[in-house]
Amino acid sequence: MMQPEIMQITLLGATGSIGRSTLDVITRHANRYQVYALTANTNVDSLEKLCEVWKPRYAVMFDQLSAAQLSNRLKTKNIKTRVLSGETGLLQVVEDTAVNCVVAAIVGAAGLVSALAAAKAGKRVLLANKEALVMSGKLFMDTVRENDALLMPVDSEHNAIFQCLPDSFTPHHSSVKMTNTQAKSGIERLLLTASGGPFRTFSTDQLHDATPAQAINHPNWDMGKKISVDSATLMNKGLELIEAYWLFDMDIDNIDVVVHPQSVIHSMVTYCDGSVLAQLGNPDMRTPIAHALAWPQRIDAGVEPLSLFDVAKLEFEKPDLERFPCLRLCYQAIKTGGCASIVLNAANEVAVAAFLEEKIGFTDIATLIEKTLDKADLSQDTGSLEKILEADVMARTITNELITNY
Ligand code: NDP
Ligand code: MG
Repeated sequence: MMQPEIMQITLLGATGSIGRSTLDVITRHANRYQVYALTANTNVDSLEKLCEVWKPRYAVMFDQLSAAQLSNRLKTKNIKTRVLSGETGLLQVVEDTAVNCVVAAIVGAAGLVSALAAAKAGKRVLLANKEALVMSGKLFMDTVRENDALLMPVDSEHNAIFQCLPDSFTPHHSSVKMTNTQAKSGIERLLLTASGGPFRTFSTDQLHDATPAQAINHPNWDMGKKISVDSATLMNKGLELIEAYWLFDMDIDNIDVVVHPQSVIHSMVTYCDGSVLAQLGNPDMRTPIAHALAWPQRIDAGVEPLSLFDVAKLEFEKPDLERFPCLRLCYQAIKTGGCASIVLNAANEVAVAAFLEEKIGFTDIATLIEKTLDKADLSQDTGSLEKILEADVMARTITNELITNY
């Protein structure tokens, strides 16, 4: 019998929450997957440990000083992994012809350039970094199509939707526009589920006093700090709305957000015959990661089987756009177009960082984003990576000024 080819993987953001979950899945399938390159920003201790275990061909520290440290430590231990740094290092391990699959799990706008490069290189791209798509939606999807890349959604909601779509929807098919496929397959709406985050039941006064420690304590998911705060403001759901809009080529008015506190249904698709298809499972990112790695096959993800008797009850409610204005701002940003999504994303990153440093309060996050959107010129061109990065810098400058004058 022919042995399947071993997939060579570059894991961007290996030291993060998605990075850890990805390595946990890969470790169960050494006959299918090999780690070619691992990357991090400054966390030398973690990447050193990972290099000891995985012995990848390359390790990239985005930060140069950290790269030098890692290189010295690996030499002392006689580990042959070559250490690279900066954007050049990231691009090298993404574009390397030996690599079949790139897992894009860097957090924030910092992940855009490498994720886009993976699409341009025609790789199988496992996209966790939703900010990349929020910033560069059209350019990213065009790049995927033009280079015949395979774009697999890792975000649990988008992965769930992908699983509920008809087989005729392939995320890399260059000739089929989803709008045609949608009409043919009778798809009516996408329902994005949201846990509601740790502050789902908080009053406006309680939200005002919410602390970083409370915000990063998510009821169902164990994630990095930035996305945990985004979940608390519902910005995460807003970014996912924009992500779904681009990934599935769906009219924004046909995408609904449904608050579902149990996080057991990961999202749904409704069809014109009244059918609603849902994907269920325990809230564990190893499921969408394993699906995205193995599709169209299925592999064990190490996830506990779902016990519906333990879950017992599934609840649903409408999101409250008054208490959680970030979600409203995301709907608006899509409708505004231009560089509004880039500005929103950049302002959010700056505001979340300031909140985590206790420079601003929880409810200031939405206020700062709205003020940045008001001040910025949203008509700027977003047709190229350079223009997108320019808009990102412009927005960060505005938000930082607003914070200084707070
Ligand atoms: P973490 O904060 O846990 O990890 C982020 C990773 O990115 C780390 O490896 C970090 O390295 C690296 N990194 C940070 N800044 C830079 C930079 N400037 N240049 C290069 N690398 C950098 O994040 P998560 O794993 O939680 O999230 C990663 C992405 O996946 C985000 O876009 C998030 O929205 C998305 N996602 C996450 C989910 C989750 O469950 N966690 C679910 C769905 C989507 P270092 O350790 O050195 O700082
Ligand atoms: Mg998600």
